[in-house]
Amino acid sequence: MVNTSTPQATGAPARRVMLIDDSSAVRVRLADLLTRTGAVQIIAQAANISAARDLLNTQDPDTIIVDLEMPGGGGLDLIAELRNREPTPLVIVLTNHPTAEYRARSLALGAHHFLDKTLEFQNVPAILQQLAPRPDHSDGTPAAEMARLLSLMSYQILDTPAESAFDDLTALVAQICATPIALISLVDADRQWFKSRHGLNTESTARSISFCHHAIAGDELFVVQDATCDERFADNPLVTGDPLVRFYAGVPLKVNDGNNIGTLCVIDHVPRVLTAAQVEALSILARQVVARLEYRRLALDLQVAHEARQVAERKLEALAMRDDLTGLANRASFLHDLEHAITLGLRQGRRLACLYMDLDNFKLVNDSLGHPVGDALLIAATQRIRDTVRESDIVARLGGDEFGIVLLNVEAVADVAHIAEKLIARLTASYEIAGQIVHVGCTVGISMCPNDSLRVDTLIQQADTALYHAKARGKGDYKFFAPVLNETVKARRRLELDVREAITHRLFELHYQPQYRCDGQTLVGVEALIRWPRSGQTAVSPAVFLPLADELQLGDGLGAWVIGTACAQFSQWQSMRCSPARLAINVAASQLREGFVEFVLDTLRAHGLSPTVLELEITESQILRDYEQAKAIISQLRGHGVGFALDDFGTGYSSLTLLKDLQVDALKIDRSFVHDIAAGNGDATIVSALIALAHRLRLRVTAEGVETAAQLVALRGMACDEFQGFLLSPALASAQLVEFLAAGNIEYSEPIK
Ligand code: C2E
Ligand code: CA
Ligand code: CA
Repeated sequence: MVNTSTPQATGAPARRVMLIDDSSAVRVRLADLLTRTGAVQIIAQAANISAARDLLNTQDPDTIIVDLEMPGGGGLDLIAELRNREPTPLVIVLTNHPTAEYRARSLALGAHHFLDKTLEFQNVPAILQQLAPRPDHSDGTPAAEMARLLSLMSYQILDTPAESAFDDLTALVAQICATPIALISLVDADRQWFKSRHGLNTESTARSISFCHHAIAGDELFVVQDATCDERFADNPLVTGDPLVRFYAGVPLKVNDGNNIGTLCVIDHVPRVLTAAQVEALSILARQVVARLEYRRLALDLQVAHEARQVAERKLEALAMRDDLTGLANRASFLHDLEHAITLGLRQGRRLACLYMDLDNFKLVNDSLGHPVGDALLIAATQRIRDTVRESDIVARLGGDEFGIVLLNVEAVADVAHIAEKLIARLTASYEIAGQIVHVGCTVGISMCPNDSLRVDTLIQQADTALYHAKARGKGDYKFFAPVLNETVKARRRLELDVREAITHRLFELHYQPQYRCDGQTLVGVEALIRWPRSGQTAVSPAVFLPLADELQLGDGLGAWVIGTACAQFSQWQSMRCSPARLAINVAASQLREGFVEFVLDTLRAHGLSPTVLELEITESQILRDYEQAKAIISQLRGHGVGFALDDFGTGYSSLTLLKDLQVDALKIDRSFVHDIAAGNGDATIVSALIALAHRLRLRVTAEGVETAAQLVALRGMACDEFQGFLLSPALASAQLVEFLAAGNIEYSEPIK
């Protein structure tokens, strides 16, 4: 696209400008704005970088105004190339995305100015003037002609394609006036250019020979009845040669600002006189042309306004990429900003740190003190983060109580550690919210770019992995990512997959650990304990894989399988007449929900078992997850004769109130208390007191994890009722248990209920 509009004929050196923008409306508007200053010549325009490169082979602009956001991109590359061009043109970036990063990149690559297209569009001419002294054109065109030319430019119509709206008018005027030629001529600085030409092939002629040049000097119809008889025109090449003008009648196109920018004219090859009606028609149609010109300009303005509005909307969208509560960037915006930070960091050879931060116990604050306090806490925490990092660093809220921070221009890893420590110290300091003192902790995971990765998603995932490990190590700490951490996470993922598969393919087994009376060592029951035999691999404790199954929402089904399998086994022992009296089964909190009572009773019935043989073991903490529901289920099942034991007693809250309220049958003292019981230290006193207390509440007491005779002797001295442990037997597979029982080294006894 080459444009040769020359706004003034002063002879002074005009700036030779090339415009590169994919929006034609922007180019037109810009060309208009620049040519109005009178010191600019738009020598070329391009809608994309590759077109611009082509034009640069033949054109030699001294100034290039370039947009960065164009289909095909490449704006920054072009800027870099232009630096090596001789002579080096001035480069002005005019963009809808005036981010700090783009600005820095553009200027670093050699752009002289970086302007916001929305806000600074109007400043482009002033900036061009600052960049070089304004050419002197005091000897040039009179002010009125200059104003007229500027007016013409503002219609942005020169050198545009034909438009039927104008062609219809010239066809009509030719018909009414009965002339072979009718034109809409626009009188430019040194030419007349025809927007519409009925009956003529030429696009333009020199202004100096044009009839229209004379016509626009006045405000009325300008008529030359016979050019050959008019000394101003007799020698005119348009008269002596093609198109052989004899008759000319032109009405000035007086636009809204009072300037005559051209004419509507008719031409004949023979001398003519127009009738009054024809003159009238010519004037009316000239006004129509003007109306059309004004309409066209309005439409262009609207298009530019529309584009400006779109830009504004995009800005609003960018604003929507904020978190409402804290005003921080949200996750989407964080990803975007991190991406840019990485690119910029790479270019400048700088490191950055990606921090994933999580408030410890925030959920507890939210649940116990209410959401308004939680919200206020987040806002206060946000302020503390901002006060800790540099203003240029990126801070975002990634989720409920999770924050993402990018530290830019990191010099040393030690600096990052220092900031992480500062963040933790500041965020853990107490908060005063609505008159209450609130405490939360804070844990941080860190990944480094480019050391750990160059990719946004990987960096975030690595920081998250580091956070996970920092938490596992004890909250209130920070940890840098290391590939080995990924190994742990991978191992966990693999385990997850394996658990899933084991559940699907029923790869679990149940083992049974005998439970004995403390006096006489008679067998009273067995506790079913789940096992996961994995050939060639180390055994995974149920304490590890059961919570995992729960997390995968598979715990419920697994629990049901345990109950079904244990009942089937027990029923088989009964039919073999080698059954202990009681079957203890562990249940998890996830199982204690609607339908559990029916499920247990149905299963017992299906295997012909009395509910009284069953004792369900459940921990205090699991009951507390939904106390009312658990209590109702326990009460209903006990109503049918099913027993309940409170497992691991002593490790959790060990609430007496709960013990009284729940009405269970037995208490199992955790093996951690049993361990030191024979050493005569404090544990012995605690266990002794626990047993006495349980007895007062009419609860039976079972000691877990009895490994030595000394422990058993001590328990007997405390009047403990029952025990289980490696002293007599670990959990055994069902066949082994039968052998164990058949060996006859145990007495049978009715359990104490
Ligand atoms: P728990 O209910 O306290 O089970 C007793 C644990 O102590 C078992 O570990 C058992 O093997 C171990 N143990 C028994 N005697 C001794 C001893 O003398 N010394 C030592 N050091 N340990 C002993 P296990 O089988 O690894 O089970 C761990 C936990 O997993 C169980 O603790 C129980 O909470 C849970 N669990 C096991 N099987 C099931 C199940 O089928 N369903 C549910 N819901 N939980 C189960
Ligand atoms: Ca148990
Ligand atoms: Ca236990």
